[in-house]
Amino acid sequence: MNSRRDFLQKIAAASIVVPFFPKAVEASTEVYQGPLLRVAILGLGSYGTRVADAMQTCKKAKLVGAISGTPSKLTNWQSKYNIPEKNCYSYQNFDQVKNNPDIDAIYVITPNSLHKDFVIRAAKAGKQVICEKPMSVNAKDGQEMVDACKKANVKLLVGYRMHFEPNTLEIIRMRNAGDFGKIMFFQGLSGFTIGDPTQWRLNKQLAGGGAMMDIGVYSINGARYMIGEDPIWVTAEETKTDPVKFKEGVDETIQFQLGFPGGAVASCLSTYSMNNLDRFFLNGTKGFAELNPSTGYGPIKGRTNKGELNFPHVTHQTVQMDEMSDIILNGKQPVVPVDGSEGLKDLKIIDALYLAARTGKKVDIKL
Ligand code: NDP
Repeated sequence: MNSRRDFLQKIAAASIVVPFFPKAVEASTEVYQGPLLRVAILGLGSYGTRVADAMQTCKKAKLVGAISGTPSKLTNWQSKYNIPEKNCYSYQNFDQVKNNPDIDAIYVITPNSLHKDFVIRAAKAGKQVICEKPMSVNAKDGQEMVDACKKANVKLLVGYRMHFEPNTLEIIRMRNAGDFGKIMFFQGLSGFTIGDPTQWRLNKQLAGGGAMMDIGVYSINGARYMIGEDPIWVTAEETKTDPVKFKEGVDETIQFQLGFPGGAVASCLSTYSMNNLDRFFLNGTKGFAELNPSTGYGPIKGRTNKGELNFPHVTHQTVQMDEMSDIILNGKQPVVPVDGSEGLKDLKIIDALYLAARTGKKVDIKL
């Protein structure tokens, strides 16, 4: 097990999948008769395929199109997912999607540094946009993406699937109800041992960084939704044990701290050199909450000082896409936002963390 996909799949494979939908997307006996969000996926790689598979059981969203730089994948997806040829595009001709009334939204699932241009092109084509995390590779690019979508009058959402996960949502509910008292501390640990040194995740041009961009973002975003505030300062320390594999600008391990206005502190770790590291821990004056694992494909395991949280497993991407359909088509407000400004906040934090790691100084931030 030496890739991120293997790591996440190993966790998923260990589970017995029990169909379950949280209250927000209750699988009632009623047949859904509302509008469907018709989605084209751009970038038919490992995660794009996972989303496509998960969308087969969506009720409010439907996979109808594909955009790829690999013609054979388009042929394969046409037969595998019953996608009409007229809804398939290459990266060269995909701006023509503006003339296709059968596609509502484009979901960008490419290497990180390519998100920006594809998102802006999708917005200019008048399509709603969903973009994978990290939304881009720095806050400047992220701001341009947010601005372009605003200008085109389309929504921009980020694939933050944990924002719809039932154990996570229950902890947020308990925190809001005061069950943990005043929140004082969060710990977020995000890591796996990365394999193939030639992959794009270890290429600064395509990844924009290293473990921080890829999985540190889970701890950053998690610190914000678990504590329920945005940080006002950061500090960070980087360590590198293999400078050949982790070249200049590609971080192997960063330990970082985030300070919050209410006095809470988050202490986090992102790494490409430790396996099966995926844990959130929240503590307040009255009690604690733990998610372990916290962000893998599931099952997510939650417990608090009051006992285990026994929410059955959900396929995160199925729930996410149904919820995003409701957000885009019906203006639904999710418990934890998933819009472009949410993605931009995380990019501002990442910029500040890299600056703090480079300078060794505490960096103040205003989100
Ligand atoms: P993959 O390498 O498996 O797939 C990326 C796809 O992007 C490729 O298959 C290719 O598709 C397309 N692509 C376009 N240009 C390039 C290029 N220059 N180099 C490589 N690929 C290119 O990556 P993942 O699917 O694992 O990751 C894609 C994105 O999804 C990342 O931003 C990642 O952070 C995010 N992700 C999110 C997860 C989550 O749980 N939310 C989990 C895993 C990834 P094609 O051949 O069709 O052009």
